[in-house]
Amino acid sequence: MDIMTAFKTMDYGPAPESAAEAQAWLERHDYTFGHFINGAFTTPNDLFETRNPATGEVLAQVSTAGEDEVNAAVTAARQAQPDWESLGGPKRARFLYALARLVQKNSRLLAVLETLDNGKPIRESRDIDIPLVARHFYHHAGWAQLLEAEFPHHQAVGVAGQVIPWNFPLLMLAWKIAPALAAGNTVVLKPAEYTPLTALLFAELCVQAGLPKGVVNIVTGMGATGAEISGHPDVNKVAFTGSTEVGRIIRRQTAGQGKKLTLELGGKSPFIVFDDADLDGAVEGLVDAIWFNQGQVCCAGSRLLVQESVADKLLAKIRARMGKLRVGAPLDKSIDIGAIVDPVQRNQIADRVAAGVAEGAEIFQPDIAMPEGGCFYPPTLLYNTEPAMTVAQEEIFGPVLVSMTFRTPEEAVQIANNSRYGLAASVWSENVNLALDVAPRLKAGIVWVNGTNMFDAAAGFGGYRESGYGREGGREGMFEYLKPRYASALKPVKLVLNNEAHMQQKLTTSVDQTRKLYIGGKQARPDGGYDRPVFGPKGALIGQVGEGNRKDIRNAVEAAANAGAWAKTTAHNRAQVLYYIAENLSLRADEFAQTLNTMSGGSDGDDEVRAGIDRLFHWAAWADKYDGAVHSVPIRGVALAMHEPMGVIGIAAPDEAPLLGFLSLVAPAIAFGNRVVALPSAHQPLAALDMYQVFETSDLPGGVVNIVTGNRDALTRTLTEHGNVDAMWYFGSSEGSAMVEAASTGNLKRTWVNDGFARDWFDATQGAGCEFRRAATQVKNIWVPYGE
Ligand code: NDP
Repeated sequence: MDIMTAFKTMDYGPAPESAAEAQAWLERHDYTFGHFINGAFTTPNDLFETRNPATGEVLAQVSTAGEDEVNAAVTAARQAQPDWESLGGPKRARFLYALARLVQKNSRLLAVLETLDNGKPIRESRDIDIPLVARHFYHHAGWAQLLEAEFPHHQAVGVAGQVIPWNFPLLMLAWKIAPALAAGNTVVLKPAEYTPLTALLFAELCVQAGLPKGVVNIVTGMGATGAEISGHPDVNKVAFTGSTEVGRIIRRQTAGQGKKLTLELGGKSPFIVFDDADLDGAVEGLVDAIWFNQGQVCCAGSRLLVQESVADKLLAKIRARMGKLRVGAPLDKSIDIGAIVDPVQRNQIADRVAAGVAEGAEIFQPDIAMPEGGCFYPPTLLYNTEPAMTVAQEEIFGPVLVSMTFRTPEEAVQIANNSRYGLAASVWSENVNLALDVAPRLKAGIVWVNGTNMFDAAAGFGGYRESGYGREGGREGMFEYLKPRYASALKPVKLVLNNEAHMQQKLTTSVDQTRKLYIGGKQARPDGGYDRPVFGPKGALIGQVGEGNRKDIRNAVEAAANAGAWAKTTAHNRAQVLYYIAENLSLRADEFAQTLNTMSGGSDGDDEVRAGIDRLFHWAAWADKYDGAVHSVPIRGVALAMHEPMGVIGIAAPDEAPLLGFLSLVAPAIAFGNRVVALPSAHQPLAALDMYQVFETSDLPGGVVNIVTGNRDALTRTLTEHGNVDAMWYFGSSEGSAMVEAASTGNLKRTWVNDGFARDWFDATQGAGCEFRRAATQVKNIWVPYGE
């Protein structure tokens, strides 16, 4: 083509990136790879192929790790961990810094290899994925450097087992490995079967960086290999990114194993366009939201919600823009949309789109050139859809935008939140008041205002609801790889005489007072109409409490859910109520001490009441001081990290310190705007129950704290399985902890359990440390770029 013709047509010419270096690297390895265990590659065995999805050609053969290989990798990680941790943060920082430098030095090779293996456009792997990988290692080199000062009283968790998906192979590796190493953990990581190559190249970089043997281990394989890692008894922390379905399996599998768990799962993120938005800007935003990485992005803006008055105009602009998207060879630098990772995924996308059309959605696919051969899917718009349709509810995980309309901001928020997911959201409006009013009301871990898919190592990433829990990146992400130092020294809870056993005894004494349940700010008779006796240490009947059942739990959860105004009241008001509760408790201190002494047979009840009053003062003080942050992210704008309440928290209070334990958990929960359904100590419930009289006289709105007594294990299960409970805190036996973790999978609620260990509730760190603040809140990052 001559220059004049090119000028006239303004067509893009081909701009292919060379694959020669990457091919040479594969050839050096004879196109065959073992696992990277204890600093060296193993002999390849049990091979499977990894292919270039753009052409279908086999790139290499990779080994499948079974039980033996995973054992070897975990053993290597275990042996390496103590020395790695005791190196100290500043020395570990040097290694992380070296890895960052090596990623930068090899960035072109890594980008090409990623594109070959995954099918994503080279523009994205070169300009987004790999720079973010380097940024992640730099950022976490910094955390390693500052660890002792910034995370006092914390230590590494131990060996981290990490399982990652195929959509951002090296980036997900960096998100997992960098914080783990910074905190002093060692790792065993499995890349996805479709995209193992950059992880194997990264293993070589670890050797070049002089990383001690066993600190990073990479094993390849399928889902079964991932399951070997996540279920391994010697793995202390599991970090998983992938589908919600597998996230649930892992939650169930690890229940009761005492592992720390972070899950970064699916999403169906809303992209909300108000009528005053810059529509052209919004269209470009959509290109990044849903056609970035072929839409194979967990936080893809896959649900377009557009205000009805501008819907036709915006959809016309979107259709026009779709007609300009270029689908083709991913190594071509002028390509917008590359290949889908595998035919299995492409067929799944096609099936989900067909199902949407069958449900009544209308479809638009632009008339653009599609490559012949390879694994491609055209950019697609499904419109005239309804919020309840499957395509509006479930991940399609492909380049498919689902569009619907709304009339008012309230309706936009309602439709946006009508999802089991809660990963990200994007809000488009030129009215800053509107955008910043809507952002906090969206149930999502990340909200972008007039932007989308902005990521940075300094800002935590992670979801609400069934999009998983835990954050990756930033200070909050570091906590996921640390544990409090005191945790290693805790002793198992002492088995107390079971109240149930006493119940077989004949009731010989009568008591004059029966404590009721406390639901919605009112004392309530249990639904079943039965009471249960409470016995003193020598078997004497000392009181009766309500025999609450499933119905009572449901009523309590409903009352808590209806008390949502508590989250919106000012922190100052919440502090005042807590001060008032403390004051009223202190007026009745002697009476509470007496009840504690009667229940325990001891004489130190007054110490516990005093400590309980202090604890209430402590959390009253904190109510208006747990500030968020403005992250230093590389945009012209701000990323605001806000601490939001979890919502409704179920609390099963401990047997040890029955009043102090109860207050130590309930007070931080309500200080930060949560509502609570609390189950007091099973065998010493009376003092905690008496708190309702204090609550009633302290201006605590009805429904903020609800107390139910009865068969604690059964009530705990009902509470944990309840779909409207957002988090469950359990302090009891190891069996109970396992049950809570297993039962939490329904709505993937956050759990905080004691694994059967007793803490010292009188101790300031164990009974009121920063983990209480973190358990009571979740971080929402709101990105607000600015400038004309
Ligand atoms: P999966 O969740 O199945 O895979 C993610 C990772 O987990 C992979 O390394 C996988 O191995 C591994 N794995 C699979 N089963 C288990 C198990 N039981 N225990 C431990 N690890 C396991 O995602 P898929 O790749 O199969 O994709 C399926 C769907 O999931 C997609 O269509 C998409 O909807 C969603 N998805 C969401 C992602 C997100 O970031 N939100 C990312 C990827 C997918 P292997 O690769 O060998 O199967």
